[in-house]
Amino acid sequence: MKEKIYDRPEKEMLWPGHSFCPGCAEPITLRQVLSVLAEDDKDGKKIIILVTPASCKSVCASFEANAEKVFDMASLFMSASDRATGIRMALDWYGASAALVVLWIGDGAAFDIGLGSLSAAAARNENILVFCHDNEGYMNTGVQQSSSTPQGAWTTVTTEGKKYLKKDIAKILANHGVSYVATATIAFLDDLRKKVRKAREMQGFRFIHLFTPCPTGWRLPENLSIEVSRLAVAARIFPLYEIFNGEKYKISEMPEKRLVKDYLAVQGRFSALKEKEADLKIIQKNVDDNWLRLEKLEKLSKF
Ligand code: SF4
Repeated sequence: MKEKIYDRPEKEMLWPGHSFCPGCAEPITLRQVLSVLAEDDKDGKKIIILVTPASCKSVCASFEANAEKVFDMASLFMSASDRATGIRMALDWYGASAALVVLWIGDGAAFDIGLGSLSAAAARNENILVFCHDNEGYMNTGVQQSSSTPQGAWTTVTTEGKKYLKKDIAKILANHGVSYVATATIAFLDDLRKKVRKAREMQGFRFIHLFTPCPTGWRLPENLSIEVSRLAVAARIFPLYEIFNGEKYKISEMPEKRLVKDYLAVQGRFSALKEKEADLKIIQKNVDDNWLRLEKLEKLSKF
């Protein structure tokens, strides 16, 4: 049966009420992810420990995760992965190996400030589950660029559009040879929940890159977060795939192809670019080349 965004998750892990901006994709994604992480908790004893560095969640989540089931620990950007690693070691030492240690980090923490400790944890294939809610900028401090901000996007420090490409965090982490890397978005809910279930059951370092639209920073109408997520996948800006043990690739969704310009057109942050055909061609070519690379890697993968 298809799971729908407006259905209540079977396991509700969040209390209602928050101060995220209207239309923000993050709280609905967090709600779905936590509900999947908890759904195998038959005897009600499962422990989930979230480690959350500074982000929109840490300032907007006036709701609390169900405190009986989820412990939420604040952290610094650069040491969040170290903290998660330490908690994992302590739990294993005390025999609580069934507990889940979950890092919930934004693109600033994953792509930039926290990349050193994240890479170190990935290199050790630490037994932690990492979710990167990627809103493509430093949104909670006023919309500055991160290395996840796409080429051509306006931010308060790239007023004429960002000049260089977005960093490919999935590729970087997969090259550490970690257990599991996947991309997902709330617009493809079944796919998202399936990947979270899969990651929940695995051991080792698992990383799920979540496409998380930010209406405020993207100058996007607040009712279009889901629609723009769907367009990002169809335009292959954010393809949905999985990487197992750093080498086996599997594309998980292939909706009918749309052009990159359709995706860019609904967002105000690309408005300067819309008049520059040459820039559009470069972005479209990068996206097409990346998709071809992905298809080749999938063909080379043997399952
Ligand atoms: S600034 Fe963006 S990411 Fe942060 S709460 Fe608002 S819409 Fe969500």
